[in-house]
Amino acid sequence: MLYKLLFNKRMIRVPLVLAGLVGLAGCQALQTADRGLYQAVEMVSENDRVTGRRSLSLADRNAQIRQGNQYIEQLLAEERQAGRKLNGELDRAQYQRLVRLFDRIQRISHLRQERWQPLLIDRDSFNAFTTGGTYIVVHLGLMEQLPDDDEVAAVVGHEIAHTVANHVGESQGHRIASQLSGSKAARSGAYQAAFTHENEREADRIGILYSALAGFDPYAASRIWQRQYLLEGNARALMLHDHPVNAERAEEARQVAAAVASYYRPGQQNPHYEALLENNALWQAQQPGPEAGAGGGVLALLSTVTDTWLQHEQAKAEAARQQQRSAFVKAVEARMTLLESRTLAGNRLQTRWQYRASAPPLNQLVIGLLVQQGEQLSRHVAHIDGVVRPNGQFVAEFNLPETLPVQDLPSLPVRFYVDDVVPAQ
Ligand SMILES: [Zn+2]
Repeated sequence: MLYKLLFNKRMIRVPLVLAGLVGLAGCQALQTADRGLYQAVEMVSENDRVTGRRSLSLADRNAQIRQGNQYIEQLLAEERQAGRKLNGELDRAQYQRLVRLFDRIQRISHLRQERWQPLLIDRDSFNAFTTGGTYIVVHLGLMEQLPDDDEVAAVVGHEIAHTVANHVGESQGHRIASQLSGSKAARSGAYQAAFTHENEREADRIGILYSALAGFDPYAASRIWQRQYLLEGNARALMLHDHPVNAERAEEARQVAAAVASYYRPGQQNPHYEALLENNALWQAQQPGPEAGAGGGVLALLSTVTDTWLQHEQAKAEAARQQQRSAFVKAVEARMTLLESRTLAGNRLQTRWQYRASAPPLNQLVIGLLVQQGEQLSRHVAHIDGVVRPNGQFVAEFNLPETLPVQDLPSLPVRFYVDDVVPAQ
């Protein structure tokens, strides 16, 4: 029943009035009702470990651990069945490195009282994930591609943060809430992508704070996204929705790092980390509210309703912003004409373009190139320096990998696209 009320703004006034009544009257019946209400809200929501805010979540921490770990144990069984090695058996040095970095981060995290375990699996891709339990899974490829310990710590911190912020539980509760709310916007793909985007942002923020408190360079996360942006732009053409884009993420991560940089003691745990987890430049802990029976139940309901509604509104606004951005990129793309392309020494492809438009001038332009080689789809980007003026021409130069000889291009299916662009000021 509670879900039905979640997105109805008028309902928020009712608990406010009730909260006042319980507080003033101290009436026995109301206290009992408030306790019952508190228990009911407890069942479907959880206090955010970071901000103390309450949000919709269907499983308590023990259930989350059971559920999350069950998935991982199944994965481990499959790995063994397929004859793939794990952890130290797979790569002793990389596993020891992972455990060492992992322990330093987990020890200063909001879930430091739990016993966690990192797992190293035999995949060469750049990936790591959590399922909300007490494991994080890291691909060997990620460890090999990140020789910098601070950058591995940034990834580990981000993954632990997903569980700390209860993103697995929240997205389950959220999916049900959006189904039952009958909100059309909430069922759209763009909205779901925006919700994920918000979670990624939150995990980045918490993870960067963890890095600083554990003695790792807080700017490492920003470096990863910046490098990713140079390599693949925003990877627009391969995404179903326009997703947390690398350029924005690098910039946001840099701002967060600047905010927490004063907590960073290179190579050392910050001695005040416990206090800083509660109150820091990114968030302030909330004062504990009244207890169950003294208005706590009503407040818990109120807080769940408003926070869930707020998250919903935020995700809606973010979806609208991303759609607008995506429409702008597409409009620019429609005004681009390829004038010529030629091969250069060093396996480079040079293309010359015309931007046919009356306005606006463009900045941060990235041209993408998709190439189909058999089953393989590869993506390459060229970053254009400076501002591109209306009706101006510009050159985009692609550095191709050895696996794609530039002279093969004419015989392969290729597609150019605009990967990233912002209007110049
Ligand atoms: Zn993430």
